[in-house]
Amino acid sequence: MLEAKLLKVRPKYLGSFNDLDTLPFSSLDEVAFVGRSNVGKSSLINALTKTPGLARTSNTPGRTQSLNFFNWADFMMIIDLPGYGYAKTSKELSKSWQGLMYDYLRGRTQLKRVFLLVDARQGIKPNDEDMMKMLDQCGILYQMVITKTDKLKAPELEKLKDSLEGVSLKHGAMFNDILYTSSEKNLGLSEIRKIILSLE
Ligand code: GDP
Repeated sequence: MLEAKLLKVRPKYLGSFNDLDTLPFSSLDEVAFVGRSNVGKSSLINALTKTPGLARTSNTPGRTQSLNFFNWADFMMIIDLPGYGYAKTSKELSKSWQGLMYDYLRGRTQLKRVFLLVDARQGIKPNDEDMMKMLDQCGILYQMVITKTDKLKAPELEKLKDSLEGVSLKHGAMFNDILYTSSEKNLGLSEIRKIILSLE
């Protein structure tokens, strides 16, 4: 499928799930988005699909700790995974969150790629490292997406790029190519769409 054709179709929200047994069953491949709370995940999913309001912001009740499923053009399932590292998340909640996440990542054969979002101004935090370890362990191919690059000045962005060079060497399941995006300025989104299209 071509990018323009994909963009003609608004993804369909299938629901929010927090129990593996109830996840939608389909023959479509899946791509998942994950990152710290406030990293810009909802904004990225909305901009990527050109569907404002599709993925809701972190403070939408009910959706925060669940796996949100979207069927995009009967071509690919988009999974919005719950954000992590939110200070108000209780230990108990984060334990069950980890269990759900781990079970999903480990057992989902149709999951073709995970996009791990990292805020340009924050860089990789310890809980991102934990997530990367989990993905390495599960053997799920993942790609780092830097968000909000519009918030950095050109030299700062160059510095970030330098600092991230070679990070994939330490992570077995991580792609070398890091994607630099801004949902606000519509940067790097076409690249992600092309990756999604190439997974067919
Ligand atoms: P989520 O919690 O990861 O879903 O993050 P949101 O998408 O709700 O974004 C968190 C905050 O970052 C919001 O205030 C957004 O407006 C802002 N934000 C998200 N993406 C961008 C971006 O590309 N550029 C800028 N400048 N701000 C962004």
